[in-house]
Amino acid sequence: MTSQNTNLSASSSNLQRVIDRLNADRGSLPDYDCEICKNKGFIFMIEDGREVAHRCKCVVTRNNIRNIRNIGIDLDECGFDKYKAKDEWQKNALKMAEDYARTLDGWFYVGGAVGCGKTLLCSSILKSQLHKGISAKYMAWRDEAGRLKASVNNNEEYLHLIEPLKMVGILYIDDFLKTAGVTKGDVNLAFEIINSRYTNKKPTIISCELSINDIISIDEALGSRIYERTKGNYAFIKGGERKNYRMR
Ligand SMILES: [Zn+2]
Repeated sequence: MTSQNTNLSASSSNLQRVIDRLNADRGSLPDYDCEICKNKGFIFMIEDGREVAHRCKCVVTRNNIRNIRNIGIDLDECGFDKYKAKDEWQKNALKMAEDYARTLDGWFYVGGAVGCGKTLLCSSILKSQLHKGISAKYMAWRDEAGRLKASVNNNEEYLHLIEPLKMVGILYIDDFLKTAGVTKGDVNLAFEIINSRYTNKKPTIISCELSINDIISIDEALGSRIYERTKGNYAFIKGGERKNYRMR
């Protein structure tokens, strides 16, 4: 070994020591305990003989947790183990949700009466994805559709609100189309989001009081896209006291 090589290997082992020390330091990022970056959000590596910092994948998880918490979903209160499936319809809906969470194949749609556990099933799917490094977002239809429709004449504001709904890795739309009366503006907005996610094949979870047939009868282009993507992942729970999940 020449002296130059010896110096190079000495400096690279010094650099490795620096990197090891940086990676061992603990950070203080909240919401999630990450063994990989020790809650700093970065991991350090040597690339081409130089120190390089890479963003840790837990940053996406932290954003996801914050997104969902901001909207008021308590992550401790949801999860498939919290869904008490007694009747056949509940068991089927739960199995469908668990299967979907594993594969994210197509979209997931659960329709039916208020209080039948739709939101619990859908938010449990979302929760199961938080640590997979995919960005996830929750959309409460009534609130966000109202904000979007109010900003339709302010292009910058409108794009700022709608782009994340189109582009996010997984979107959960809660109470889709829930409003005092579905207007042309609601349909246009729904179509813009749904069509973008349909075209880009982005996983989408929808809970809605309507059946997909109801949506098709409101707007065929909208309903048929949902129908096509949710094949096999479609549960519709008919109304009635017996199926009021919250009353049990
Ligand atoms: Zn991390």
